Parts: sequence; structure tokens; C-alpha cells
Amino acid sequence: MKSVVNQLCQLQDLILVRDEHRAAGGGEHLARLNESIATLTDQLPDAVRPFFSRLYGRDHVVMSPVHNGCCAVCGMRLPVSQIQAVRQSKVIQYCPGCSRILFEELDAPQWVGAAPTRGEPRKSGLSRFSAETLMIPDLLAGSAEDTIELLASKMETGGFVSHADKLITAALERESLLSTAMDNGLAFPHVRGIEGGSLTLACGVSREPFTWDSEGTKVNIVFLITIPTAVSAFYMRLIAGLTEAFLKEQNRTALIEAETPAALWKALLKATRYTIK
Ligand SMILES: [Zn+2]
Repeated sequence: MKSVVNQLCQLQDLILVRDEHRAAGGGEHLARLNESIATLTDQLPDAVRPFFSRLYGRDHVVMSPVHNGCCAVCGMRLPVSQIQAVRQSKVIQYCPGCSRILFEELDAPQWVGAAPTRGEPRKSGLSRFSAETLMIPDLLAGSAEDTIELLASKMETGGFVSHADKLITAALERESLLSTAMDNGLAFPHVRGIEGGSLTLACGVSREPFTWDSEGTKVNIVFLITIPTAVSAFYMRLIAGLTEAFLKEQNRTALIEAETPAALWKALLKATRYTIK
């Protein structure tokens, strides 16, 4: 059964990659991705496919990792016997709360940011998941690898996410499925399945565009984003909001010209004021 769970996780990854590609306004790889999704769905055992399709018809997040004894998507605490069954992976386990297929994710990076303290004013927009300490103006990077390394280290030293090394590996694996470089010099490398907490976003900007992927796409504004499973759907809206904000050349220029982390943070908040709520 383990291999079926792996098959399902692979299919889930592809579905989310396709959805992201669509949310970011990409279209050129859509047909190929849809074809791979159809092929993988066909390859599922007959006993599993109908359940998968029913869940998929309801929501595109079908698989949920078990984190701290709970379903990471709906938060329901799972019986100990079921957690063991998920670990043994002999029979597919469905969450009693949301019906998603449960799987064990070993060794996921963790969100370690500070929870908001009582009495603190409620944050809005991008400041809910990013901060001035996660900004790198004048990024001195020449590749996707360098950039992801610099941004992941910022997240770790800033006390947002543990294990920068795991983040780097996971983000590069995701890039190998499909480049996250988009039009207008933007790229959105990211890591899913972060344990707990909230979404985190770091931003790096380079004066000179550099080559991001094997297709030769040039980028100069990069957002590294870590995504807990529970907020997968919100992530699509975030990508759409960022893409929309940076369709405007003046917003891109404001970012590129920022000389300090404070100036970059200010420019980013201003540019996304209306597109990210
Ligand atoms: Zn659930």
C-alpha cells in the first residue's frame, strides 16, 4: 500500500503544480500537466480511484499529512490506532473529519515563528507572513540555487522556519518538476508541507536579471514561500495577488530600486496593498 500512497502523493504534487501554474497566469505547460495528471489517475488501483476522484471533485487538496497526531488540513485529532495504521500504511486511511487521505510525512521542516501576542494589533496583507528581516535587496545571486539558499537562510536566522538545508532541497526538487519562473522577471520557488504555523514569504531582488532555469528564463524578483498544508488554497490566491501587483512596471521598478531591507519591505507592502488582503 505504501506505493499507492506514494503514487497518490505524486499525483497530488502534480495537481498543485498545475493549479499554481494556472494561478500565475501560465499556460504553455498546462496541456502537458493535465495529461500527466490523467495518466497518473488512470494508474491508480481500481479500488482507490473512485475515492480519489470524489475527494478531488470537492477540493484539490486530497492528501493530508499527519502532524502532531492531527490531520494537518482540518486539524482533527486522530485516534492513536489510526495514526499507527497510517504509519503501517497497509490500508488507506481517511481522516474522520474531512475524509482526506492521510499520510505520514517524515522530517518536514517546521514553522517556528512567534505566535501573535495578545493585545497586539491584528496584522493585514503581506505583514501577516513576512517581515523586513526577510527582505534581500541587491541579491548577489547568479542562479536559482544561490537565490534559494540565501532566502532560506534568512528564514532560518530570522527564526521563522527550521532547517534551511531541508527547505533548499525541497524547493529545488519542486523547481525540477516545473520551473516557477514567470513573466515579468518573477519567480516563486516554494516548499509545501511545512509543519504547523503559517505561511512565510522571503523576497530577494537583483538589479540585473539572471538566468533561472534550463529554458533560460531571466528573473530579478524572487519570492521564496513556505506553505503549511492547511493553507494550500490560500497560497494560490497569494500567487495570483503577487502576479497581479507586479504586472505593473512601476511596482517592479520600486522593488528593484530599493536599497535597504526597510525600503524593499515598504515597496513590497505598497505594491500589494490592494491585491493581497
Ligand atoms: Zn482532516
